[in-house]
Amino acid sequence: MQQKNTQITACHLMVHGLIQGVGFRPYVYRLARSHGLNGYVCNNNHGVEIILEGSGKEIKLFLKALPKYAPKQAHIDNITSFDMPVQGYEHFQIIKSTTHSNEITNVSPDIAVCDACLTDRNRQHHRLDYAFINCTNCGPRFSIIQDIPYDREKTTMHKFTMCNTCKKEYTTIEDRRFHAQPIACNHCGPHYEAISNDHSTIDYQEIINLSVDLLKQGEIIAIKGLGGFHLACSALNEDAVKRLRTAKKREEKPFAVMFPDINTLEEYAPCNEEEKKLLQSWQRPIVLLSLRKPLPASVTNGLNTIGAFLPYMPFHYDLLTRFRQPIILTSGNRTDEPICINNQEARLKLSALTSHFVLHNRDIHNRVDDSVAMVVNNKTRLIRRARGYCPEPVNTQLNAEGILATGAELANTFAIGKGTQAIPGQHIGDLQDYDTFCFYREAISRFKKLFRFSPSLVVHDLHPDYLSTSYAQNIEGVQLLGVQHHHAHIAACMAEHNLDEKVIGVAFDGTGYGTDGHIWGSEFMLADLEDFERLNHFDYFMLPGGDTAVNHPWRTALSLLYKYYGTSYTKMHLPFLEQIPQANINTVIKALDHHINTPLTAGAGRLFDAVAALTGLCLHASYHAQAPMMLESAINPDILDYYPVTRANPINLKSILDGIINDIHWKEPVSHIATRFHNTMARLIILHVKNIRQKYQVNKVVLSGGCFQNAWLLTKLEKELLADKFDVYTPANIPANDGGIALGQLIIAAKRRNSEQKNLKQ
Ligand code: ZN
Ligand code: ZN
Ligand code: FE
Repeated sequence: MQQKNTQITACHLMVHGLIQGVGFRPYVYRLARSHGLNGYVCNNNHGVEIILEGSGKEIKLFLKALPKYAPKQAHIDNITSFDMPVQGYEHFQIIKSTTHSNEITNVSPDIAVCDACLTDRNRQHHRLDYAFINCTNCGPRFSIIQDIPYDREKTTMHKFTMCNTCKKEYTTIEDRRFHAQPIACNHCGPHYEAISNDHSTIDYQEIINLSVDLLKQGEIIAIKGLGGFHLACSALNEDAVKRLRTAKKREEKPFAVMFPDINTLEEYAPCNEEEKKLLQSWQRPIVLLSLRKPLPASVTNGLNTIGAFLPYMPFHYDLLTRFRQPIILTSGNRTDEPICINNQEARLKLSALTSHFVLHNRDIHNRVDDSVAMVVNNKTRLIRRARGYCPEPVNTQLNAEGILATGAELANTFAIGKGTQAIPGQHIGDLQDYDTFCFYREAISRFKKLFRFSPSLVVHDLHPDYLSTSYAQNIEGVQLLGVQHHHAHIAACMAEHNLDEKVIGVAFDGTGYGTDGHIWGSEFMLADLEDFERLNHFDYFMLPGGDTAVNHPWRTALSLLYKYYGTSYTKMHLPFLEQIPQANINTVIKALDHHINTPLTAGAGRLFDAVAALTGLCLHASYHAQAPMMLESAINPDILDYYPVTRANPINLKSILDGIINDIHWKEPVSHIATRFHNTMARLIILHVKNIRQKYQVNKVVLSGGCFQNAWLLTKLEKELLADKFDVYTPANIPANDGGIALGQLIIAAKRRNSEQKNLKQ
């Protein structure tokens, strides 16, 4: 390629990565022009194809600049290039997308409105205050795409005809909105409409005024957003927040709070650089932060953290600039159901919650919740992977084509395999809810179409009763594979970090069906992508009432007491038991005696539940992981000691319980007990991991499972294991919770299929 300056050479480039729908082609165009190069750029199903003709020196400079100055949302995986004969192009052009083969390129996630667009709203005549402004670098993507390649006709924007001004921008290569598929303005694009009781208006300023007034009056408003509806109310109005809770039914989960700007946010929750970066990133997730200045009790419900985020749509900016206070912005759904996405559905379903609606007429095709993340040890950890992240793929080293992983049951996500990529679906939710299950099926079928995917191998959890398992078993004409839950947790984290070797896997979580039919969740394993060996775990204990115990941690606490102390627990005079009617205690003891609905569990999450109950922090849980979250919230970082732990196999929990009961007797503050317990868990994991390293000479440790959403535990473990010279791998881009299961299932299936094929060849 390197030739004399005067000589014309030609070069063919293929760029792979997350580059469609992020203004990459116009960027290439401008770059090529600035280097005086001719040729073309186009999207095709493989990625972005570029032909360059010009001086060898300029082509070389172009290649150097290409990844360096790419739009910030673009994520280039690789660029392949080869020389080719000169065709004699006279210009550089962007040519129409071509579709061939069923290989696809990546679809961009939705992008928060950019600063340049916010400025344009103040100065472009046709876009003054326009709420659906966007450009090649920002705006809706995944939420509106119906098919590929990403072109306007294949999005929900197809129903809006561009006005002449927009059309001109769309076709002018130098324009910031050149080929911005959702381009729109006040004259031709979507608009908002407010319906409040009997009054309705489409005047945008009136809508903002009305919304601000309603917030001030303590009202709840249903607002259509980017990937679904939200319910909003003032976050400083205790009464309003309470009413929102009542309206959403048994909803005790902490609500997400949107702040007008980073300064107001920091008044309540000071953040470090990483957290600030994450809050202001184009993904704009909800970020879990420690709360310093209190918000009304109903917002946080006893936790010392909040889920905070910043405006990401023009409407949010307008509303909050005017309201100037934080608002609750929680998903617009009835409890456990998926978020509403269309106007009729929202007005029907949410009418019991509010009579104030802010709607718009840009249709949401793919439902996508706000993402939730936290920063631990300076790394972003996704807890709910949805808006801004989905459908970004995970690159693997294995052929994953045709594999559908159906995930777990709670916090479900599925994943599909395309080539060597795994594409996790958006956060779906709890499949036990019928509407959520419908959303699950719909999302899978949309992925099939969007990514030209048809499954030949379907992976499911071993749990026979999971709806994702029966969903898999009902697909005809495919090969089926069941994968153990905790193996999948470890494999998910391995896939994220591109590990394909033997590791020490520590999977701590609430539940997961074991190969012995019991409930697992405190696994120490030697694992690779193909298989695992379970080396140690907690000693099983009974879960009185099965799932009922998950909602009533006192039952689990009682079961552990009864296991280790028999009837002498009654002589311990534990305060938490005084809050439980004797008849209920008797029922549980009877169930334990006669093994009536008392599945065996070794789930670490259940031990956290039990300790939260023992300390009186949480006897009844109204949402998933409430007890462990409250226990973590009680931590006092000054407490460094811990309870004794054993090397036994299985791991006997009596020494830990002894310590806790002793502390309760001596009326030690709950925060001391909570901290000692957390320290104990870290200590126990380190002890066992070291044992395994010594015995098997494996130095790589993978931590995964819902318990590692516990920021305290993860921070401590990662630091201490690193200090002990372990190579430590922890979940970051893929959730530690069951939202990661599908990716784990997929990579295990890919690896096994790969090995089987190799064996066949030999
Ligand atoms: Zn923009
Ligand atoms: Zn227009
Ligand atoms: Fe799990």
